[in-house]
Amino acid sequence: MQYSFRGKTETLEETRRRFMTWVVIDTKTGCWYHRGSPDGKGYPRFPVGQAQTRPAHIVSYELFNGPVGFNNVLHDCDNIKCSCPQHLKLGSQGDNIREAALKGRMRKSRLQLCEIEEIKRLYRTGMFTQKFIGKMFRCGPDHINRIINGSMMSGPYAREKREPAANEARKQRLGQPLTSKDHQEMLEKNWET
Ligand SMILES: [Zn+2]
Repeated sequence: MQYSFRGKTETLEETRRRFMTWVVIDTKTGCWYHRGSPDGKGYPRFPVGQAQTRPAHIVSYELFNGPVGFNNVLHDCDNIKCSCPQHLKLGSQGDNIREAALKGRMRKSRLQLCEIEEIKRLYRTGMFTQKFIGKMFRCGPDHINRIINGSMMSGPYAREKREPAANEARKQRLGQPLTSKDHQEMLEKNWET
């Protein structure tokens, strides 16, 4: 992998050296905290080319470990600010989902009514298991099962049903129905946070 910076092609050594000026090493954990400004998901980005940036952990993998290809770069240390090459490994999207399941990261806020509608719709397509949908929305499979089988008609969900005006306002705030790109992003995000 060869990078350029401000119109000048860099050697691997030069890019490595420039990369290290952005890094603060945590002596306790060994994590390389990267000072690049974070993207929407919180991943720091490293400046390359004329005015571009790339996710620092991916650049680090390429600079110190080797080519990434079409893989994702995953954090063994679970610290998305980290760009320590020894803490990074390659993995597929499938690995992402499996690891998220193993680590059991669950949502802390309750589902919005429009999300509940979306869960039901996805399940009706027959293309997704309840477990998979659970990963997407960061819920346990039991919770998804209750939603699909319609036993969520008491409590806060029922109140949203009874107050269509409030629900309409919420839908406005949340905007358009979710697309498959949203689903992909949700899966990615739910792995990362
Ligand atoms: Zn780390």
